[in-house]
Amino acid sequence: MTENADEVSLIDLIAFVKSARRRNPERDEEAEYNDGTQNALYTDTNKARVHLIIYTFIALSLVQFGNRDVCATAVYQLEDRFEVYVSRNDGPDDRFRQVTDELVCLIRDTATNTKPDKGKFIRHYFDLIRRHCGGKLKSRISALQSELTKHTGRIGKFVIPSLPLLKERITNYGASDPPKFHMSWGDAKAASLSPKGNLYDGLLLALAKVERSAVDPTSTVNYVNLSRQCSVVGESTYVRSLNQHPELYDLIENIKKVGQYYRGARYLFDRIIDPKYQSRFKNITVHMVDSPDRIKHRPPETDWYALLSRIEQNRTGSAITISKGRFQAEYGGIVNYEKKQEYTPHCECNLVSQLISRNIAPTTLGTSKLCCELCSVWIDGVNDYLGKLGETRRWTVGSTRGKIYFWEPPQSTSPAVMAGNAAVRVYLLKKVRIMVDNCKQLEVLESPSEMDALSVPPDSPFLDYTEDVMEETG
Ligand SMILES: [Zn+2]
Repeated sequence: MTENADEVSLIDLIAFVKSARRRNPERDEEAEYNDGTQNALYTDTNKARVHLIIYTFIALSLVQFGNRDVCATAVYQLEDRFEVYVSRNDGPDDRFRQVTDELVCLIRDTATNTKPDKGKFIRHYFDLIRRHCGGKLKSRISALQSELTKHTGRIGKFVIPSLPLLKERITNYGASDPPKFHMSWGDAKAASLSPKGNLYDGLLLALAKVERSAVDPTSTVNYVNLSRQCSVVGESTYVRSLNQHPELYDLIENIKKVGQYYRGARYLFDRIIDPKYQSRFKNITVHMVDSPDRIKHRPPETDWYALLSRIEQNRTGSAITISKGRFQAEYGGIVNYEKKQEYTPHCECNLVSQLISRNIAPTTLGTSKLCCELCSVWIDGVNDYLGKLGETRRWTVGSTRGKIYFWEPPQSTSPAVMAGNAAVRVYLLKKVRIMVDNCKQLEVLESPSEMDALSVPPDSPFLDYTEDVMEETG
């Protein structure tokens, strides 16, 4: 790493990249939002990674509020117990400690119980979620409701909301229901959850209830039933194939998110009573990890073009070659760069950084949301550094979603943490370079002076083509 007095600070670099948005993005990055549990629970059938599912589910279970509340766990499986470290974007408070304590009690009681009952466990679990984490669950249900009433689908020439479209698709599939003995384990399980033994009846009834806001938030049983029916979509490979309909994709994803609670609770119960893990769950201990406060920051350099020029000067050793207007034409959102923004510490990086400072070895992390782009780059940077030191263990997270936030870099003098921050810097500088290159290419394509430079305009595209080929081979 080269020290440069003129180097742009990491946080200003984040401000710049976050603010520079293409005027005509090919796809809306905001819509790529997803959840960690989602991925771990539904795409991971590898038994060796069941741990990740459980760790991720525990992280989700501790999230009390909608969007901005995010939680991460690092779990250590010791001879006689599980040691769990928990971090939350905003740091633990009393309510958070309470839900954690209750969840730990439920897990320990179930592991100690000589006759553990799955139904009872699930009811207790949902009671806990309803009382402490109702905000998060309700936000998922209302996201599902708006998805159900969104007019995206089409039957013939009529544009219709998603629920009737889903019904129509399901009816079509129903006609070709696989014979019982051809059903996958998940399909059979899903069918057993349905009152009429039909794969979808229960699900459609539950969704109709969500659509007309008839889910009673004060009733635990109500939540259990809804989440159980939604979990069918995760269980059944058959229902999952509905995902191939692009207009139903968001709906299916939202159904799965509501179903995660039930699905995860079942996984957790099965693990708790598994003789391989039971005694470890009996002695499970949880450690809370503090988080730094969010910080408010306004780049000292209010002119984004001056900052960009400085980045380019540092990189190339000469003055910037694209104009302010050219860059702005492509990345118009840059006008928000000078605003004061709130930067949030992300729980997974905070957790890793704090564990490193306590000299605790790398392990698998569970996160309640998919890791964002910068967290993912940061963790890779830390792992690369550890690899160079000869460490074979790695910090592992589930999948990543490609989105950049106002991200607060972990503050530490630990070389591993600094390596993570350095990796984020390199990554962001590369992004800026690509942006600048994009502008240069477009300038070439759009500039009328390029046409003037040709002494004889080509007669036809074919002539143009042959000339190019000759030049290349010559
Ligand atoms: Zn993140």
